[in-house]
Amino acid sequence: MNKPIVVIFSGAGLSAESGIPTFRASDGLWHEHKIEDVASPAGWKKDSDTVLKFYEERYKNIQDAEPNEGHRAIARLQDKYEVINITQNIDNLLERAGCTNVKHLHGVISRKKCENYDRVEPCDYYSEGFAVKGDECPKCKGRLRPDVVWFGEAVDMDFFSLMELQGKTFAFIGVGTSANVQPAASLLNIFGGLKEKHFVDPNPPGRLINWTLWQGKAGEQLPKLVSRLLEEGTAMPPPKKKMKLD
Ligand code: NAD
Repeated sequence: MNKPIVVIFSGAGLSAESGIPTFRASDGLWHEHKIEDVASPAGWKKDSDTVLKFYEERYKNIQDAEPNEGHRAIARLQDKYEVINITQNIDNLLERAGCTNVKHLHGVISRKKCENYDRVEPCDYYSEGFAVKGDECPKCKGRLRPDVVWFGEAVDMDFFSLMELQGKTFAFIGVGTSANVQPAASLLNIFGGLKEKHFVDPNPPGRLINWTLWQGKAGEQLPKLVSRLLEEGTAMPPPKKKMKLD
């Protein structure tokens, strides 16, 4: 029998308890770095050494990190549900926790691609491994850069398949994202019509009306939500407390 589908949309907050800083928090990455310097095509053109140094620090941080209780709870959900992870995170902590279906909207830091990937005549070279200074594309001799999506670049998302998926989905869970970045944030609208929709975050976006809010850290709240979904299953009664935020 097919398992009911649960779609989980995650952001940097899911990995925060693993020691990977988010971007927008007061101790977050954007307070130490200018977005346009380290995460934009213009920044890469201006000073690729600084960009590679920034991502090298992120990469080391991710290698040293371990999945937390939030990642592990998501993996447990697979016992009963077909879990589709759509993540904005460029780390691999969901996979390392045992999640088998993970779509990285913003790329993966441990892969590299040719800087000429978006030219009129694009170079399609990419490979596993972190991009380091001096890495050259074997096809076109361009420089290799991290396979992550920068501001101003297109995300790897097929909206039509998402609409189709929405109609087959039992539950949607948003976790650890300020949902500020488009088009990823529009997932909240696409799945907003579901009855079973949850959001886990100490500071959830203010526009969530009729969502069940699990206000707190992913490592504390996700295990509780997952236990409930595993125990009560698809016949889950309406949540006792629905919060409205204006
Ligand atoms: P964001 O920094 O804009 O928002 C982080 C969200 O996480 C906030 O809503 C915050 O309240 C919440 N949060 C903080 N601690 C939490 C915790 N312990 N548990 C649950 N939630 C917590 O991040 P974003 O919305 O993901 O968007 C920014 C972009 O930054 C993403 O596109 C992503 O690609 C990138 N990013 C990725 C990583 C990573 O791969 N781990 C880390 C930093 C940034």
